[in-house]
Amino acid sequence: MATLNRVIRSAYYSPFTIRRLSDLVSDPASIRIASTPNQSPCTRITLPVSRDALGTRSVQWVFLGCPGVGKGTYASRLSNLLGVPHIATGDLVRDELASSGPLSKKLAEIVNKGQLVPDEVIIDLLSKRLEKGQTKGETGFILDGFPRTIRQAEILEGVTDIDMVINLKLREDALLAKCLGRRICSQCGGNFNVAAIDFKGENGQPGICMPPLLPPPQCASKLITRTDDTEEVVKERLRVYHDQCEPVEDFYRARGKLLEFNLPGGIPESWPKLLRALHVEDLDNKQSAAA
Ligand code: AMP
Repeated sequence: MATLNRVIRSAYYSPFTIRRLSDLVSDPASIRIASTPNQSPCTRITLPVSRDALGTRSVQWVFLGCPGVGKGTYASRLSNLLGVPHIATGDLVRDELASSGPLSKKLAEIVNKGQLVPDEVIIDLLSKRLEKGQTKGETGFILDGFPRTIRQAEILEGVTDIDMVINLKLREDALLAKCLGRRICSQCGGNFNVAAIDFKGENGQPGICMPPLLPPPQCASKLITRTDDTEEVVKERLRVYHDQCEPVEDFYRARGKLLEFNLPGGIPESWPKLLRALHVEDLDNKQSAAA
């Protein structure tokens, strides 16, 4: 598989600069664009871009989909399979919250209301994460939860050529149930779900059955829930998704990069079908045979 190492370090946050960055992106040298005097530091984004010696790269995939659909689950499994990092901007935001840094109070207010954090903040967090990965020799990525606005999508499109965007879909009542059933082990960080979903088909919607994903005994007493997984906040996050993030689906659809995937059920049923849709089932077979 081809390899690549590209990093977003910083870039300007304006359509004008996006065009300039896309002109510059073919240059493998590190690119830094000085900010104008009137620009605040947080709107400044630069891009050092690098490829490996052959000028090739690893996969650059993006997962889109409503809260609770399972982006993290499938992105993380694919990242193991393909050997590229799974980068979830929600995790970057939660790390920032946990750090009690200067941004954390403001971010907590936004996240706990189910709103999106400002584009320049999320791009800054992502840039730092990619830069750190570059120093460790990471190549390619599977992005989860980014881009979530057209502006973010334009910035990403301006600096790299995303190969594929996987749009996971699930009926809305199941999304809500999955968010409310989500549990995280405070010790090992494992993700579980206590929701037992068995919804009949109605009003043209297919029925769906998703068994719970229960924790092992050593995690059972250490489970916590995300502060933004309350019913009120999840409903707001779904509203924000339809309002601000759905246009991102159209953005990639128009570029022929969107792969729609309706989840047929729980992980055992969905995973092999997803691999087939992505044409990577052979990799999974090889990995299983080698294990
Ligand atoms: P997630 O874990 O993906 O559900 O993200 C948790 C929260 O982090 C979201 O509800 C947003 O407040 C924030 N967030 C994550 N990714 C982004 C993004 N790309 N743009 C803006 N806010 C984001």
